[in-house]
Amino acid sequence: MDIQSPDRAVRLAVDLVNTRTLEPEQLTTPARLRTFLLEHGEPEPVDVDEADLNAVRAVREAVRPVFHGDSPARVLNELLEQYAVRPYLSDHDGTPWHLHVARPDASWAEWLAATTALGLAAFAAGHGFDALRVCAAVDCERVFAHAAEKRPRRFCTPRCSSRTRVASYRARHP
Ligand SMILES: [Zn+2]
Repeated sequence: MDIQSPDRAVRLAVDLVNTRTLEPEQLTTPARLRTFLLEHGEPEPVDVDEADLNAVRAVREAVRPVFHGDSPARVLNELLEQYAVRPYLSDHDGTPWHLHVARPDASWAEWLAATTALGLAAFAAGHGFDALRVCAAVDCERVFAHAAEKRPRRFCTPRCSSRTRVASYRARHP
């Protein structure tokens, strides 16, 4: 349980929040959570139970406001204060050097909170909170991270962007 790269932690945060949007809940069972962690590069053994599932869902809702621009710096500082420890480098089990920010005995939820909070904090410090967003499509609530360009991206995908463009064209030309 570690941070191999800040990008990975940001992707983890985005994907975690997007497990529940306007679309149906994806983290419905411990097995689903286990699959989510494995798909995000966590090595076996990944053992999770119902308590882990509930705690991870709570962390997900604690992280969500960061993307909604709801006092994001305060939210991240609170998560870091509560879950992160002094960072330390490790090359345990023959892995490449990587940074740990959660306690060695952290639960999955505590590890996710510390890792995603540090990843998002580093990303926001580099790109601004404008780069962490909720999709602007009316029927979409997915969040995304996108390093700011001249015009910050507004939609999670080109699909949401073109759907919104078509809808507003139809509204103007009934
Ligand atoms: Zn969208």
